[in-house]
Amino acid sequence: MTSTPTEPDWPAEQLLEKGYLVGVRFQWKRHTSCEIWDHDHCEGCLTTFSEHFEEGPGSDPILREGFTTCSDYVHGSDYAWVCPDCWETFKDAMKWVLVPTEPAAAPA
Ligand SMILES: [Zn+2]
Repeated sequence: MTSTPTEPDWPAEQLLEKGYLVGVRFQWKRHTSCEIWDHDHCEGCLTTFSEHFEEGPGSDPILREGFTTCSDYVHGSDYAWVCPDCWETFKDAMKWVLVPTEPAAAPA
């Protein structure tokens, strides 16, 4: 370990300072790209979410699914993303609410 005593144990603790994420509702979803950008980062640990990026030898992990904001979020759905590790660690402190994922619409 190379961390020094002045650093937080885990950079994800910066999440606790993101007041705009307190009490936000999240859904577990597969990450999908939009026209503007093709990936997102976990609000805590900055892990990458993308359906396009590939993990290579020694590369950082790429998540295909994660917790993301719902349509009632101030910036809309799929705006902020949180990985499972950060979810488990910070969901209570951040008062996050998990909204059940709506079942996929049945094909007509
Ligand atoms: Zn994370």
